Amino acid sequence: MRVKACGLSDVGLTRAHNEDYFEIDPLHKLYVVADGMGGHSHGEVASQLAVTSIREFIAKSADRDTTWPFGMEPDLAHHANLLKMAVRTAHDHVLRAISKDGSLYGMGTTVVGLLLSGTSAAIAHVGDSRAYRLRGGRLEQITQDHTWVNEQVVAGFLSREQARTHPLKNVVTRALGGESDVLVDVRELEVEPGDLFLLCSDGLTGMLSDADIRDRLASGRSLHEICRTLINDSNARGGIDNITVVLLAIEENGSNGNGEEEGEATR
Ligand code: CA
Repeated sequence: MRVKACGLSDVGLTRAHNEDYFEIDPLHKLYVVADGMGGHSHGEVASQLAVTSIREFIAKSADRDTTWPFGMEPDLAHHANLLKMAVRTAHDHVLRAISKDGSLYGMGTTVVGLLLSGTSAAIAHVGDSRAYRLRGGRLEQITQDHTWVNEQVVAGFLSREQARTHPLKNVVTRALGGESDVLVDVRELEVEPGDLFLLCSDGLTGMLSDADIRDRLASGRSLHEICRTLINDSNARGGIDNITVVLLAIEENGSNGNGEEEGEATR
C-alpha cells in the first residue's frame, strides 16, 4: 500500500490571520492539522509550535525503540504510543513557551494527527479538529470533539443539529496549552486500499455538514481538486473561520499515478 496526500489551508473570508497549521510528512507518514487560539495572532504561534514539535518528536523517535520521556502504554501499538507522546510533548512545548513569554498567556491549539505504520493508522486528537474516513462511499467521523456542545450531545441534552448551531459550539474542553496536563484520545484503525482520510479544522465542519463533506470526498476527483472544493464551498457558505484540510488516499502499490505526496498552503 502507498499513500497520496494533499493539504490546503485558507484564512477564510472574515478573519485577519490564519491560525491553522498543517503538516504532511511523507517520510514518516505523519499528517497533522492544528487550529490555534489566543489574542494578537498568538494562535498562529501555538498551532505552528505544536505541529513542528509533533513532527520533530516522530522524526527523532523513528529509529528509537522507546517513547522516552514517557512510559509505553501496553494497550497501544508502538506507533500509537509514539503519536500520543508526540502530542503530549507538543503540549509541554506550548506551556513552556507561555511560561517563557508572559505575553503568550492564553494561547492554545487543537490538534489532530494521523501516523501510519504498515496497514495501521494511529489517530490522536485534542479539541475539535476532526478526522474522517470515507470507505465504500460511507463517511465516518473518527474523532469525538472535545467541546462543551459535544458533551451535551453525548449526554442526550442536545441533538447534533442543535449542537451545530449552538452559540457555545466553539467552546473546547481540551486544548494543548490549556490545563497543566492534557488528555489525548488515541485510536488505531486498519487501513485498506480505497480508504480516504480527511483531517480538518472546525472552519470546514462549521460550514459544511457531514453529507456535504461526504459528497465532495466521494466525487472521484483528484485530492487537490477535492481540497480546493472543500475550501471554496466553505467560503461560499460564509467562510467565517480559517479552513484547513488534509486528505490521504490509501492506494494499492500497483495503482496508477506517481504516488508523490504534495502539500500546499495558502495563507
Ligand atoms: Ca477554528
